Amino acid sequence: METATIPRLRLRVTAAAETIIRSGHPWLFADSIRHQNRDGQLDDLAVIFDRNDKFLAIGLFDPESPIRVRVLHTGKPMMIDATWWQERLRQTLARREGLFDAQTNGYRCIHGESDGWPGLVLDRYDTTFVLKLYTAAWLPRLDEVVDNIRATLHPQRLVLRLSRNIQPLATEQFHRDDGQLLLGEKPEGPVTFLESGLRFEADVLQGQKTGFFLDQRENRRCVESLARGRDVLNAFSFSGGFSLYAARGGAKAVTDLDISEHALAGAQRNFALNQAVPGVAACRHDWVRADAFDWLAAKPVRKFGLIVLDPPSLAKREAERERAIGAYRQLNADGLRWLAPGGVLVAASCSAHVSIEEFFGAVRQAARETARPFTEWQTTAHAPDHPATFPEARYLKAIYLRFT
Ligand code: SAH
Repeated sequence: METATIPRLRLRVTAAAETIIRSGHPWLFADSIRHQNRDGQLDDLAVIFDRNDKFLAIGLFDPESPIRVRVLHTGKPMMIDATWWQERLRQTLARREGLFDAQTNGYRCIHGESDGWPGLVLDRYDTTFVLKLYTAAWLPRLDEVVDNIRATLHPQRLVLRLSRNIQPLATEQFHRDDGQLLLGEKPEGPVTFLESGLRFEADVLQGQKTGFFLDQRENRRCVESLARGRDVLNAFSFSGGFSLYAARGGAKAVTDLDISEHALAGAQRNFALNQAVPGVAACRHDWVRADAFDWLAAKPVRKFGLIVLDPPSLAKREAERERAIGAYRQLNADGLRWLAPGGVLVAASCSAHVSIEEFFGAVRQAARETARPFTEWQTTAHAPDHPATFPEARYLKAIYLRFT
């Protein structure tokens, strides 16, 4: 390929887009491009110029995506070469220094746009690392990314995960598949890791996200501190993350509620992995396989002293936002009927399209409708290994209410 003869891809954009990019937002949408010197390709780095023809930003170009450019750098013109990438990885890892001790070897090393790696996530599960791509623009650069990770992090194993929308292209054009090993051998069984001293399995080859919901670690720690002596319901429990922390924190009993048999089986294995922890060994562990929306809408047959409601995203796109807000209100209203006097509700949302205010508003409304007095204990957002530097990145929020 005569790459050298192809001129650099140059874009001119609308005034509004220029302002947004200048403010640090990492996305340039296709309909904000006013002029482009040639057709762009997936392996292009696009240079965005401002209205005075000065360098504004440089980023990954994706000819198929409505997010046409994902910004890597703004400010002074910069050569994006191997050294630049190495330095970016060094800075990204430096942001996590001191966050985790030896009791936590599962955490996010690279969190997409907010870490300067748009559409790319790298999670660590002990010696296994999982690289997840959400944009095809990384595919032509994958070897360089892997070299960089290998030289800096020395993973024993590196697994590639691909978001569903880029899988066909990855296979057809780049011979890359979801779950493929980039470094090391395929694991024989599930990979295990430590989070706050608890041992968990991660299904790195097929599981949701990269195999575990690392983003809820800080909320799990809070739940541990609230659980003593309580009967806990963990709705949308997945592999029992909140339940293990509650058990270690002295919960009398925990009930996992999930629609997936696979998730509930994972939770049982995670309880088995932690039997050396006194609280876990002492805690009764029950599970219910059901649609949590239906189960909670039925007449309560018992009461819980602590309820965690952490459903999957209820708004996958903007058009679903209004309906999702209503669904959060209804879910929490139904859940609160199961809450014992003196009980605590921990309600979470991972819907990026539902704002912090909208979600907290929906839960507070559900709480007021109970006519029971309650106090708002705290609200939480992103964990430090999951930074969020622009509005669309702020997907995770949780609110803690204590009822008398
Ligand atoms: N709280 C978990 C993460 C939840 S992920 C953690 O800390 O790890 C969402 C979970 O909801 C998944 O396990 C999925 O199987 C489950 N789920 C999805 N739809 C459901 C439904 N209608 N009823 C019950 N569980 C559901």
